[in-house]
Amino acid sequence: MQYDVVIGLEVHAELKTESKCFCSCKNEYGSSPNSNCCPVCMGLPGALPVLNRKAVEQTIRAGLALGFEINRTAIFERKNYFYPDLSKAYQISQLEKPICINGHLRVFDKDIPINRIHLEEDAGKLIHQDDVSMIDYNRCGVPLIELVTDALKEPHMETADEAIEFLTKLRQIYIYAGVADCEIEKGQMRADVNISLKPKGSKEFGTKVEMKNIMGFKAIHRAINYEIERQKEILDDGGEIVQETRKWDNDKGESFTLRTKENSEDYRYFPDPDLLAVNISDDEIKQIKDSMPMLPDEMKKKYLEEYGLNEYDTDVILADKEVSDMYRDCLKMYFQPKSVANWFTTEILARIKGGGTIQIGKENLVWIIRAVDEKKIRRNAAKDLLSYIWGTNLNAEQEAKRQGIMADMSSDLVFEVLDKVLLEKAQVVEQYKSEQDPKILNFLVGQVMKETRGKANAQEVMEKLKDKIN
Ligand SMILES: [Zn+2]
Repeated sequence: MQYDVVIGLEVHAELKTESKCFCSCKNEYGSSPNSNCCPVCMGLPGALPVLNRKAVEQTIRAGLALGFEINRTAIFERKNYFYPDLSKAYQISQLEKPICINGHLRVFDKDIPINRIHLEEDAGKLIHQDDVSMIDYNRCGVPLIELVTDALKEPHMETADEAIEFLTKLRQIYIYAGVADCEIEKGQMRADVNISLKPKGSKEFGTKVEMKNIMGFKAIHRAINYEIERQKEILDDGGEIVQETRKWDNDKGESFTLRTKENSEDYRYFPDPDLLAVNISDDEIKQIKDSMPMLPDEMKKKYLEEYGLNEYDTDVILADKEVSDMYRDCLKMYFQPKSVANWFTTEILARIKGGGTIQIGKENLVWIIRAVDEKKIRRNAAKDLLSYIWGTNLNAEQEAKRQGIMADMSSDLVFEVLDKVLLEKAQVVEQYKSEQDPKILNFLVGQVMKETRGKANAQEVMEKLKDKIN
């Protein structure tokens, strides 16, 4: 049988702020365990939360970047559940009145509707070691936004590719807007996926199965395809889908039941009596809108139209904000969009593949690119130079001079070498005169390059040789 697939996403992202959501503890990844804690985020009795307005501002920024309506009044509620990583036994979250409602994100040719973005606090982290479990409360109270797509509205995401495109674009928008760093391996962006199947064309939704906290986009892609196939098989055999939460095991490449509907939690949400309603003024929204940096879609247009880059180079450069920012910085110093882009899409990206950072200053990089364009250094020598000064404080120009790799065609030395080669290879020169075979000319160029130890510019040597011979 043929089925329509409906995929919904819930995406959590930790906001970029100085301090936590309801206390003044640092919002910082990687500090020693339980060093960024206080009575509020540890949930000690009597401690009162105070809202960090910056977290609200960041949530609004995320909403505006995705075309959301901003509620002028938002409410914090308590989501009650017991788990060791949640010291208060409730999480401050939003249910009835979130900050952002009704947004959308363009995924390939579809505008995927998004129901909401709400602000909440993150929980602590459990660390299991041998037969001991430890708790780090540093993450407790870190501001977190949860985005929920609206699978009740058309169009739906229907494939793993669409879901990954959604997450990739969302991550890019959050990073460019300065809302969140979204480093997946640090757990700063986490996604839950829910999937249901229905007979093709049917209006009625099938039973939803949820998969929680899958780490990494590749794993999410696999988990979605696995779940679609699993449900197809059950339905084809005349079975029924059980509403449940499943856990994806990426090593085994399969998922298993975590809990079924019968024992799913009832969170007993109610407004938090310790926190006032959040009022958001038109002025505040306008200010945030005015200070919004350029987002990926707009930037892409600029790269294509103003810089004349092709779609591939544009996407590759935009995919990493550090690369994209530095690319534009370089253009401010040397406006050759295509030539500079070429260095970023090959040499720079190759060196930061797998999570590295750019370890060369823009002045040095621009000097190298310009030197190649102006034929002062051969491309291969320039690549070696780039590797040599990468991650050091060396100056490109000084280093090029020190290594003696700068070409200088006007120097008498090159003319001398040229004459010497013509004399030594007189027979070959005669042969070229009669046959005009380009291979012979190339051989002569090679001889000159060898003698000059590559310092000459091959193209110019070739032209000068032709002049001299003819
Ligand atoms: Zn605290």
